[in-house]
Amino acid sequence: MKRRSLFGLLGSALVPWLGAKPALAASTPTDPQWQLSPSQWRSRLSAEAFSVLRQAGTERPFSSTLNKEKRQGTYACAGCQLPLFSSKAKYDSGTGWPSFYEALPNGIATKVDFKLIIPRTEYHCRRCGGHQGHVFDDGPKPSGKRYCNNGVALVFLAKGN
Ligand SMILES: [Zn+2]
Repeated sequence: MKRRSLFGLLGSALVPWLGAKPALAASTPTDPQWQLSPSQWRSRLSAEAFSVLRQAGTERPFSSTLNKEKRQGTYACAGCQLPLFSSKAKYDSGTGWPSFYEALPNGIATKVDFKLIIPRTEYHCRRCGGHQGHVFDDGPKPSGKRYCNNGVALVFLAKGN
């Protein structure tokens, strides 16, 4: 009896973990102007960008041309063009996804997701809620952060253009 109740207790404690649903949706936009329906988003975005931004998908590593982008400029949200990262914070993490050690002020917001069971910090565009990537604590100095971004969720705006 004692054993059974212990198992029951453990079981119920594990349920929220094992039953964790992938974060399949984008986050709530802070700007009501960007509260678009899925079909409105589909008409604005490529299929790949829609999958990442609006369904929290992940692009194939080494598939983005932004991996090799070395020019000075700004990386903005592909959904709403809000500036998210400066080229100054970009570095080659070797992961196959564009990586940055810091985000621009007021660009992103974060939440914890359990898509791979282990909790990870998801981040998204603060304005339109579009999923961008995950942030990890194994980045270079000075921040020690690694913002691992889907290239298809970004547009690069070269300086002077
Ligand atoms: Zn956005």
